[in-house]
Amino acid sequence: MPDLFIDGTWRGALDERTREIRCPADGSLVGVVDEAGGKDTVEAIAAARRAFDEGPWPSTPAADRGDLLLRVADLLVRDKDALARAESRDTGKRLVESEYDIDDIANCFRYFGRAASAETGRVVDTGTASVDSRVVYEPIGVCALITPWNYPLLQTAWKVAPALAAGNTFVLKPSELTPHTAIHLMRLLEEAGLPAGAANLVLGAGPEAGAPLADHPDVDLVSFTGGLHTGRRLMAAAAGTVKKVALELGGKNPNIVFADADFETAVDLALTAVFLHSGQVCSAGARLLVQDSLHDRFVDELVRRAELIRLGGPFDEQAQTGPLVSAAHRAKVEAYVERGVAEGAVLRSGGRRPEGLDEGFYYLPTVLDECTGDMSVVQDESFGPVLTVERFRDEADAVRLANDTIYGLAGAVFTTDGAKAQRVAARLRLGTVWINDYHPYVPQAEWGGFKQSGSGRELGPAGLAEYREAKHIWRNTDPSPQGWFA
Ligand code: NAD
Repeated sequence: MPDLFIDGTWRGALDERTREIRCPADGSLVGVVDEAGGKDTVEAIAAARRAFDEGPWPSTPAADRGDLLLRVADLLVRDKDALARAESRDTGKRLVESEYDIDDIANCFRYFGRAASAETGRVVDTGTASVDSRVVYEPIGVCALITPWNYPLLQTAWKVAPALAAGNTFVLKPSELTPHTAIHLMRLLEEAGLPAGAANLVLGAGPEAGAPLADHPDVDLVSFTGGLHTGRRLMAAAAGTVKKVALELGGKNPNIVFADADFETAVDLALTAVFLHSGQVCSAGARLLVQDSLHDRFVDELVRRAELIRLGGPFDEQAQTGPLVSAAHRAKVEAYVERGVAEGAVLRSGGRRPEGLDEGFYYLPTVLDECTGDMSVVQDESFGPVLTVERFRDEADAVRLANDTIYGLAGAVFTTDGAKAQRVAARLRLGTVWINDYHPYVPQAEWGGFKQSGSGRELGPAGLAEYREAKHIWRNTDPSPQGWFA
């Protein structure tokens, strides 16, 4: 069965290219999928354009659009096992993590299913009795949705669900490394009754299959999740046609631990913050800021526990985290750690590949101590299982250090002093701040970055607003000449 979904039809690439997908945990062949080139993407854009300009989806009542999303949520739950297994084989992540992801994805569809008809416009009081004034929220048009490999279906759901809720049509281009759950999602949209052409899927490499999405005049919005450098390139490419651009980029997220924090909780969550999914999480707490007086005891315990973390494949029930996504990505992480050590960081654990897992792209949980803000390892995202540790003196010092990168995605503060936690949270230039916690999110709350972690928001009411245009309709109910130029 072919894998590109264009205008309601499954087909292969025009030049018949394919790509092998291999599991990062052991190199086994997961599947061979069709690999789109630029011409396939241009056809997908044309299909989405026709479906928007002439098809039924944009004018389908919002409540009916919402119902379709709720049906998709049910289908996701029905297929949870197959979806989770496919996600784990593509990414190498533990099955249990993929299962959590599918639950979250179904919740995301439910949230936007309900939100679709919650607020579709408002009456404006102009102060003039003879005017009927309304603001209506309309779909933007054709959306290009470009997603990464770390949470493939989750990041896709954060875009597909609000795009459809608002009445848009779209072309989705998932990461070329992890395409299988996106293919499955398209089948579920088809089964749920989405009209042909409203959802289109192209698979393939960014520069070929993805690039036309950024500069094509028939695309109205690009919503991208991925790396900073790709985001900058897309934003520049989109400028020529003044597309709306929403970017969810990287992070170098500070995790601030004060001396008065609950010790066990802070150590436990510092490990989860950075080593979950082997650090391949945009909001990973990869930058530990620990108060001077607590530093030695805290880092000793953290290192002791980091060394106990068990690595293994997605279906190994003893494993606590998995491999990196590719050989190229592991090489990047290795180079990053080498640079850190050369810059003067003290390697306290990891810093190498584990023994006995040679078939996959594994890398040990790594702690780099005695780091300082001027080091590139503190400033740059590694997107791997690497924690940099810095010391701070007091509250002001913690805030200054935490804000001292180009990123502003997420971070946390651990303290038992509630007022201090609120003061620090208020001063952090981050899209998400956790207090005495790390990583939880809900689809009701916005997600996104300050500074160069992105622009725009996903999830929550603002996440739906990204996919809508506001149109003001002013109707004079008692027209008569004004006589301005009489
Ligand atoms: P990436 O930038 O390499 O690729 C992301 C997507 O963009 C892929 O689908 C890729 O094929 C596509 N792409 C690449 N070049 C393109 C081009 N010229 N035109 C169009 N599309 C192109 O990122 P990645 O390595 O897949 O993902 C890791 C990055 O994603 C990390 O930096 C991480 O922080 C970020 N991320 C951010 C969030 C968030 O919510 N802020 C969430 C997940 C991941």
